[in-house]
Amino acid sequence: MTKMNHSTLRVVLTSLFLALSITLHAQKIKKSDYQQAVDNAYEKYKTLKEGKNADYIKELANVDPDIYGIAIVTADGKVYSAGDLDTRVSIQSISKVFTLAKVIEEQGPKEVFDKIGVDATGMPFNSIIAIEMNEGKEINPLVNPGAIAATSMISGVDSAAKWQNILQTHNDFAGTELNVNMPVYISEANDNLRNQAIAHLLKAYNRMYFDPVQATDIYTKQCALNVNAEELATMAATLANGGKNPITGKTVVSPRTTTFTLSVMATAGLYDDSGQWLFGVGLPGKSGVGGGIIAVSPGEFGIAVVSPPLNEVGNSVKAQLAIYDIIRELDAHPYRIDPKN
Ligand code: GLU
Repeated sequence: MTKMNHSTLRVVLTSLFLALSITLHAQKIKKSDYQQAVDNAYEKYKTLKEGKNADYIKELANVDPDIYGIAIVTADGKVYSAGDLDTRVSIQSISKVFTLAKVIEEQGPKEVFDKIGVDATGMPFNSIIAIEMNEGKEINPLVNPGAIAATSMISGVDSAAKWQNILQTHNDFAGTELNVNMPVYISEANDNLRNQAIAHLLKAYNRMYFDPVQATDIYTKQCALNVNAEELATMAATLANGGKNPITGKTVVSPRTTTFTLSVMATAGLYDDSGQWLFGVGLPGKSGVGGGIIAVSPGEFGIAVVSPPLNEVGNSVKAQLAIYDIIRELDAHPYRIDPKN
């Protein structure tokens, strides 16, 4: 992917920790206004030029790197946003969350635990070594092998039915009809030999639950669904609201499914930097190489930022910084605890 500026992140992390340690000694902090926090993060980073679009999927290199949109959707359906909400980017890896949620809903958490696994691999998102080391077991549904396995587990009599199920699930989470970005889909489908290899290797270990070529194709299409920050934030807010879309009122998955889905997001949502992310933000999140990141504050809100330039592990530089800032300003780190007297 691309070279990251660790120094900016470190500065933000340091200020976050300072702010947290100061607030630990204070009385209950009054929550800042959501719109103010969104506007501040938008203004602060809108001219930042760090990171680089993903280019291993050729079409992603052509996306406008200046797209920058932020949205928060609360669990009671209020929307706060700033920046570009008109331009859409491909959802990429963030789709793994919603396919996983549907598989948990359909088959239960034990099936996912047994047939895929829920441990972070500690390896890059498309690692083949991780599969070999564990003979296809104990992988994670939010990195490619586990995600393609999850896609293969989704119900449907054939490839078309499985795709419809996945599309409907994403539409229900977003509360709107999403479209496939065809240039991105075609570009990746012509070039995804590595994901096909992953699917075949899993098949060899009896850990692929549908035809590996078709499962990889459906997975590639789900990754090419086009979304903006507000749609992504609504998807996150549906998780924040226990599986019920706060805008449409539709129950998409159960609260129980939501609990397990959020737990998996906490283990591997930001690739190799998932630990660093949880350390700083404390919220389950998921990023995608299209440039989006979502985070979920359970019972409170979903947040999403879209900005295509990525750091070296594949996370949007601006999206990380903006979310760090907003969580700090809203005082929303879940592990910031005021000791009882
Ligand atoms: N479709 C992408 C891939 O499989 C998704 C990667 C990502 O967003 O992490 O390589």
